[in-house]
Amino acid sequence: MPIVHDDVRTTGIVTHERYYWHDNGSAAGTRRSDGVVLQPGEHVESPESKRRLHGLLAATGYLDRLTPIAPRPATRAELLRFHTDPYVASVAAVEGWAALGTSAFVGPGSYDIAILSAGGVLAATDAVLTGAVTNAYALVRPPGHHAEADRAMGFCIFANVALAAMHAVAEHGVGRIAIVDWDVHHGNGTQAAFYADPDVLTVSIHQDGRFPRWTGQLGERGEGAGVGANINVPLPPGSGHGAYVEVFERVVVPALRRFRPDLIFVACGYDAGAYDPMAHMMAHTGTYRAMADAVVEVAAEFASDRLVVVHEGGYSSFHVPFCGLAVFESLTGEPSGIADPFNEVAGLPYQDLQPHQAAVIDAAAAFVDDVPTSRGESR
Ligand code: ZN
Repeated sequence: MPIVHDDVRTTGIVTHERYYWHDNGSAAGTRRSDGVVLQPGEHVESPESKRRLHGLLAATGYLDRLTPIAPRPATRAELLRFHTDPYVASVAAVEGWAALGTSAFVGPGSYDIAILSAGGVLAATDAVLTGAVTNAYALVRPPGHHAEADRAMGFCIFANVALAAMHAVAEHGVGRIAIVDWDVHHGNGTQAAFYADPDVLTVSIHQDGRFPRWTGQLGERGEGAGVGANINVPLPPGSGHGAYVEVFERVVVPALRRFRPDLIFVACGYDAGAYDPMAHMMAHTGTYRAMADAVVEVAAEFASDRLVVVHEGGYSSFHVPFCGLAVFESLTGEPSGIADPFNEVAGLPYQDLQPHQAAVIDAAAAFVDDVPTSRGESR
């Protein structure tokens, strides 16, 4: 059940029609069609799952409960807080279609749309930090958590969440930020951005070895002063609701409580969903509701409710809208009364925590005691 607070919470939403116009070009899944064996079709990172989430909110009237926040383009200076100047210039210089890096394509207008995506998360962050809204959801595209300082990757052009966290520090003086990444792929770009930073806790829960192939391992725990402030939970394929709930109970929530964030971001991918074509997990709407409820609760406890949820992956066009609705219900505290028509996956065998999943979670839970504390500061 959504958590109901006594105070009135307002939830902001950022979106823009142009987010749905970023075009990865014709593809078979993620592969460029070759005219020989790969029939041309829609790239898996299409607008559809995102547009249909917005469509469900609009069609059911739930959108009326949300406060619209206008996006703006991120400035060059804001991009350069993380990205290198040559990289930003190279994206800006693309005309028409291009492959930018590992599994990242751009089409006409993609630079402008990508800076509007990054800037949309900045606008959501500003709205939360100025108190215009209690929390916010950035329904932006292209996604960001794979983008590194000098390269695009995994459908991501600019590092939306990392840039927003840096913005929160630079412009609002926020001291301690936690980023929880439940996209099913490893948040390698976000991890890289704050790997040596003890004031930004990054936690990524993902399918072991799915993408990027070799990052996101348990042993990647930060460097220098940042040791302990990065936690990876690489779950085995096939993990379901029980595993995700256990990760939150044993790793995410204890780590957040120890860290005591002033602001929380969620890199919110829905590709751990049981119907997703890009991964092999079994999460369902109840899983997303449980994870969002846990984060909302910690935000209320330590961060004055300040929480920014940022849309990342999720490629089942029919399932993502209902998983997303569950997250909105958590953010607002108001149930929609709409049942997930695809929820039969919640009853599949092996949804419960399995021993080989528990072994990974045990290992990650052992790292919680190394999460940097606020050094006894009163807050
Ligand atoms: Zn993903």
